[in-house]
Amino acid sequence: MSFLDYLDKTVVASKYFSTDEMEKIYNLGARHFGENYVTGLLTKKEKLKDHKDIKWHLIGHLQTNKVKNIINEIDYLHTLDREKLAIFIQKYRNTPLDCLIQVNLEENPQKEGIFLKDLPEFVRTIKKYDKINLIGFMTIGAIDDDKKTDIIFKTLNELKNNYHLQVTSMGMSGDYQIALKYNSDFLRIGSLFKGVI
Ligand SMILES: *Cc1c(COP(=O)(O)O)cnc(C)c1O
Repeated sequence: MSFLDYLDKTVVASKYFSTDEMEKIYNLGARHFGENYVTGLLTKKEKLKDHKDIKWHLIGHLQTNKVKNIINEIDYLHTLDREKLAIFIQKYRNTPLDCLIQVNLEENPQKEGIFLKDLPEFVRTIKKYDKINLIGFMTIGAIDDDKKTDIIFKTLNELKNNYHLQVTSMGMSGDYQIALKYNSDFLRIGSLFKGVI
């Protein structure tokens, strides 16, 4: 099996790609594209506007001062990680937005995301905001550590089930097979597409 067999659950991490290259990936069958930066997403969405069936995901950290410009242009936010962001989404978003809470399961203070111990309270907090439709959790594996990544992805899948949510977003070019083992709903794959376009 190749990663291309999972295109229906792949969010193409398109930060490496021009819109011409994204068009090639689209022609392979990908319909979910994820950008890390607000400006990148807006420019690429405008250039690819004829493809109305593309779903746009924001997969990078979102600063509150950018919320107003982007929040009605996306279909999914993978990086909800603080209440201040929720307050801004509540203020500027027109209809409920499908959001995933980024969870920092590596407990690495250098990384973004909610720690496991703070998750129950954060989920409760988020439920106050009706412009946020919490659909699941997102995480990033441990770099070059498959054993750790295995535990992280297993935990994220358990969290999804415990909270009765619908999706996990986990697995990148180097660890998507581990993510599949734990039933990942959204793989976020970038680099591997360089080899097929
Ligand atoms: C770049 C990126 C990916 C994809 O990484 P690859 O290793 O190139 O597949 C996934 N998630 C996030 C948040 C990214 O920034």
